[in-house]
Amino acid sequence: MPIFIVDPAGNLVFYNEPAENILGRRYDETGLMPAEEWSTIFEPVDQDGEPMRPEELPMVIAIAKRCPSHKTFWIRGLDENLREIEVTAFPLIAQAERFLGAVAIFLGGGGMKITLWGTRGSLASPGPDTVRFSGNTSCIAVEGSEKSLLVLDARTGIRKLGLSLPTNLKRVDILLTHLHMDHLQGLPFFAPLRRPGVEVHIWGPASTTLRLSSRVLRCLSPPLFPVSLRELPSILYFHELPSALVEIGEFIVTTQLVIHLNPTVGYRIRERGATLTYLPDHEPALGNRTYPRSKEWTSGYVLAEGADLLIHDAQYTTEEYEERVGYGHSSIRQAVLFGELAGVKRLLSFHHDPAHSDAMLDKMIERTAA
Ligand SMILES: [Zn+2]
Ligand SMILES: [Zn+2]
Repeated sequence: MPIFIVDPAGNLVFYNEPAENILGRRYDETGLMPAEEWSTIFEPVDQDGEPMRPEELPMVIAIAKRCPSHKTFWIRGLDENLREIEVTAFPLIAQAERFLGAVAIFLGGGGMKITLWGTRGSLASPGPDTVRFSGNTSCIAVEGSEKSLLVLDARTGIRKLGLSLPTNLKRVDILLTHLHMDHLQGLPFFAPLRRPGVEVHIWGPASTTLRLSSRVLRCLSPPLFPVSLRELPSILYFHELPSALVEIGEFIVTTQLVIHLNPTVGYRIRERGATLTYLPDHEPALGNRTYPRSKEWTSGYVLAEGADLLIHDAQYTTEEYEERVGYGHSSIRQAVLFGELAGVKRLLSFHHDPAHSDAMLDKMIERTAA
């Protein structure tokens, strides 16, 4: 549980490791800090985005009035990430009413940390032209405020993600949207799979004739791959989707089949008030004459409604899409229309075409935003 302690004068004397994750800096690096500094350094803003005065903060109230105080607001961590936090602060009173300072307990609302390890669609495209938007294929890490880890898809980006993870990792959940090679082929290169005792949970769609485990193991075993995943020392679990709400650590995950080629699921991931929707391969305009007007007839709408961040297929330009209707992907313009229909707060264009350079993607985004 994240804890933050100040002395009677309001000087910060300690915060623990869970609080370090929310504040974005280790206590060893910040050390003792006077009240004037810690009450402003995190740039607290209220729910309307207005900067908060120090005397409005629960911790300052707990010290000044010697009474408990509770509030939800936003801070900018020292790692520059904006986070919603819920703080309960109360004074520390010892025997004989001796005032010892105050302690605050945080709940990091919406503390999801999202890292893009691969954003390319269809085929990896390394080279000097794809350095900024990434030449690696689909892989995203989502870390919760209590450190649970979800991995969204498993192509070439997953290799470096695996190498970046702590060696004492006990469990990881890999959420596959579908089994096309550009979402699966990196799985055997994921370092935690080679560590004895690590629980690796693989979630994804079955087909009408094969279970998820058979589908994955068929792709990743001889003669297509030299070793079978089953021979690796980690402990593998397979979970079939879509299903009812699933709880994974601090995450609540909703899934639904969406329009693409072959069984494909989309994900809506919630954690303490924040929502991420992941639809990397999606063609909601296919066969939909009313697109994007009808909410109930638009594939993926329920998953994306009101999301804080939508990561969506935006593979083509409008002109390219005209020649590739039915390929299972969207144009960047269609992705924007989908995001508007669903009322999402932010859209991240994803599954970039292997033929598109960084300069081309800049142009597509600029043109669409105009
Ligand atoms: Zn794909
Ligand atoms: Zn696909």
